[in-house]
Parts: sequence; C-alpha cells; structure tokens
Amino acid sequence: MIVDLVNCVRQEEWGQVHQLLLKHWLAQVPEVFEINADMPWDNSGINERLLGAPGELLFSPLVSAFLLDVHNTKSSLETMNELAGVDPAKGAKICGHVFKNGELTYTCLDCATDGTCVMCLQCFEVSIHKAHKYKMHSSSGSGYCDCGDKDAWLEGYACANHEKKEEEEAAVLAPELRNRCEQLVEIILHFALSLITHKDDLTLPEAFEEFKPEVPVDSQQFLTVLYNDETHTYESVIKVLELYIHCTKDQAMLVATIVDREGQRGCAEKDVTRFVKHSESINSSLTT
Ligand SMILES: [Zn+2]
Ligand SMILES: [Zn+2]
Ligand SMILES: [Zn+2]
Repeated sequence: MIVDLVNCVRQEEWGQVHQLLLKHWLAQVPEVFEINADMPWDNSGINERLLGAPGELLFSPLVSAFLLDVHNTKSSLETMNELAGVDPAKGAKICGHVFKNGELTYTCLDCATDGTCVMCLQCFEVSIHKAHKYKMHSSSGSGYCDCGDKDAWLEGYACANHEKKEEEEAAVLAPELRNRCEQLVEIILHFALSLITHKDDLTLPEAFEEFKPEVPVDSQQFLTVLYNDETHTYESVIKVLELYIHCTKDQAMLVATIVDREGQRGCAEKDVTRFVKHSESINSSLTT
C-alpha cells in the first residue's frame, strides 16, 4: 500500500491518494479507538494506542506521503523541516507552558489584548510587562502561557527567552512541496470534517461506504452514548445507569460526572440486536 501511495503522490494522482488513505484510515482508526467492552466510558487505552504501535500504523502512511519515503515507519513529520529547508530553532517560539491548578498567571493591563492572555512566571519575569501595570491570578488548572503569540499582546508579545532571535524572512516552500502539502492537508480535513459533521450514528458518510472494510454484521460494535442535558439530575442518571448497564454506583457516578463535564460519553457496548433494545430502555427510563 505504501509503495502505491507514494507512487500516486509522486504522480500527483490525488483522487487515488485520497482513496488509498481513506481505505487505510477506515480500517485503522477503529483499531486505535477500540471500545473497552467492559467499561466503554474508560478512554484511557486510546492515548496509549495513539502513542504506541497502532498510532504509528495509523499515521505512518501519511508521513510517507508527505516525505515521499516508502521506507518510513514513523508517525512524526520532523523530517519535513529538512525537506522544507526550515530550522525550527531559529523561528519564533511560543512558550505554551500548561498551568497546573493553583499556579500563578500574569496578565498585563496595558498590553494584553484581553483578560485571558496570560504569561507564566518564568516568561513574565523576563518580559517588558514586569514594568507595566499587571495583575496576578491563580490558575484553575487549564490554559497555557501565551508568551510568543503575537495576537495575544499589543506590545512585548514575547519574553527574552521566546523572542525571535534574528529577523528571518518567511520560509518559502518549493512549489511542488507546497502543492503536495495542500493536497494532503485537504484530504485530512475532508476525512475529519466528513466524520464530525455526519449526523447518522449507524452509518458512515456516503462517500466512505464503498471503502470501509468488510465486517460481519454480528461482530460490529455498537455504543450507547449518553448526552448531557439540562433536565436530568445526577441522581436520576446514576439510578438509570445502575439499573440498565449493571455497573456499580461508583462507576455510574463517574459516567455522570464525565457526561456533565464533557457533554457526552459512551456508557454501554452491545452487539446490534441487544443494542437497539438496550438504548431504547435507557432512553425511555430517562424520559419518563
Ligand atoms: Zn511562559
Ligand atoms: Zn516566554
Ligand atoms: Zn505590558
């Protein structure tokens, strides 16, 4: 597949490239996002698989296509810097430090474009804002340092550590490389957007159907997904979960908390015949 793919990219047969990648992703994505049948709300395995061998298998053909390298087995695009003649060490940097709960953040009342633009202590200490009117906050454990982001600050967008070292002219990509990147990014976005905007939970987007791998109907996995709303109380959701997915009270509380925080979460995995009945009973218990 990789040899075919790289050949098609080389010959700029983008329709063919699209089909090969689509087929690969439709087979490989479910491997990475495999449902934990005993505890479908537990997603912790996904990250492990994404960073491990299944993730490498998922992404490496794409990297081969970007690099025109049939021997690539890695999922990192680092080699692109060399191909593009860009030295990442020279460009402007963004700090991106992620705040821990309770950690101090600093915003400049003179220069921040809005109140959410903040710096971490290390950046603030060596920035011009130290001499301005500033405010300190304690982080609630989300968000990251905006040092280096030109849109976040009217002046002094970077501290001494993250300032652009030398005025560099913007890197210009060779036309062939630029075209390859544009075409491949378009294929990636098409795949992602088609899935995100697809409304029917039981089928794939129409353009994908003919490329999906054959899976016997009785071994297909179906997931009952619980969505957050404004009407049901924690207690009623926990009770229904205990009753219908036969989980412990602690597990039901965990699922309810995740749904409240993230908007939705899979709560039960079944084969197709049991799935429809099962989802209906949870649904009717919640609506009555
Ligand atoms: Zn910082
Ligand atoms: Zn900085
Ligand atoms: Zn300032």
